[in-house]
Amino acid sequence: MLQVPRGTQDILPEESYKWQFIEQRLYDIVKAYNYQEIRTPVFEATELFVRGVGGSTDIVNKEMYTFKDKGDRSLTLRPEGTASVARSYIENKMQHNVEQPIKLFYIAPMFRYERKQKGRYRQFVQFGVEAIGVEDPLIDVEVISMLMNIYKSFGLKSLNLKINSIGDMESRSKYNEALVEHFSPRIGEFCEDCQSRIHTNPMRILDCKKDRDHELVKTAPRMYDYLNDESKAYFEAVKSKLEDLNIEFEVDYNLVRGLDYYTHTAFELMSNAEGFGAITTLCGGGRYNGLLEMLDGPSETGIGFALSIERLLLALEAEGIEIPNDKGLDLYICTMNDQARSVAASLLHKLRERYISADMDYENRKLKAQMKDADRKNARHTIVLGEDELNSESVDLKNMDTGEVSRVSFDEIITKLEDL
Ligand code: ATP
Ligand code: MG
Repeated sequence: MLQVPRGTQDILPEESYKWQFIEQRLYDIVKAYNYQEIRTPVFEATELFVRGVGGSTDIVNKEMYTFKDKGDRSLTLRPEGTASVARSYIENKMQHNVEQPIKLFYIAPMFRYERKQKGRYRQFVQFGVEAIGVEDPLIDVEVISMLMNIYKSFGLKSLNLKINSIGDMESRSKYNEALVEHFSPRIGEFCEDCQSRIHTNPMRILDCKKDRDHELVKTAPRMYDYLNDESKAYFEAVKSKLEDLNIEFEVDYNLVRGLDYYTHTAFELMSNAEGFGAITTLCGGGRYNGLLEMLDGPSETGIGFALSIERLLLALEAEGIEIPNDKGLDLYICTMNDQARSVAASLLHKLRERYISADMDYENRKLKAQMKDADRKNARHTIVLGEDELNSESVDLKNMDTGEVSRVSFDEIITKLEDL
């Protein structure tokens, strides 16, 4: 039997209403924050991710779906959104737009060749935002507050926002030297990845999932102590403005972002909910001040985050929060004979033109079975079309919630339902 590829899933009608609800909520929230949607291709030149995500990352080293097209070009299914947005920003010269910062969002499938586990898919949908062109703690706070608003708007409570600063390039390079000095003597005790990280990106040793309990990780020098005055001031400003908005957070000095171009603010949102599973990260983000230049773009800076809908759904499930299912029909038409069926079909046509949701029986079932069907479909009103009704061109419109019945002519059905 043919099956979905490993790590992917069908989202069936029993689940898809949840996705629609979440997506609608996201659209409402980005609108409140004045972010505009950007849609970029599902595949890009492989080089974009190698340069934009970074050759020392798991994404580039292990997780990309890369293929050659018939023209011998190396293409990759996008594993994340930021690099594509940056490419588009540069290509469309958005730095010259009058309105700044450029505030963008996307909701799109991402592809990573990963080991499948709860909350980890090979195709998953990320919602992400990027604010590019202004470096100001207020923008960092705007982005973080949007993130918190999203999760809180669903009623989630077991949330833990962690933030850190990884400083500017100058602070980082001093810090990296300190880390090399700290880890080098005993790097042999670390995993293979860390043994190469110490040369490519020592900060990522702090982020290693295998070695996180190693004593040297716990005693590692703190980034904070290596921040220069400017970086420190930026971090302090972000923290105090978060406090102004009553956004709770925890400073985690070991929080780093895996990618080379991150600077200053880094953050992650975790779920503490029991039953969430081994992976607790809901969302990650941070400021990037080197990315656009790395892609031969202008020296503009940005900040963004990305979350996956899959993990948001897991968090909702873990906290027992249900998404309202407003599936249901405005009207279900029961029919007693063939003539009634064709009258019903024309009536449906008119109703649907006015966005009134309506349906009928297509299986020639008995009246009782049709009523059952109406119930299953959550019909708010029903009518029965039989000989009498056809002769008098009127029906009893029944409100299924109250049981109330009113006699209306065929012509009145539409206006009556529109009013309701
Ligand atoms: P992780 O440490 O869990 O692998 P990551 O650092 O690879 O996460 P990012 O690249 O920062 O994650 O992606 C941002 C968000 O996208 C994550 O916080 C998570 O919510 C989600 N995400 C990442 N990978 C997957 C996946 N394979 N399946 C579902 N959601 C994912
Ligand atoms: Mg990952």
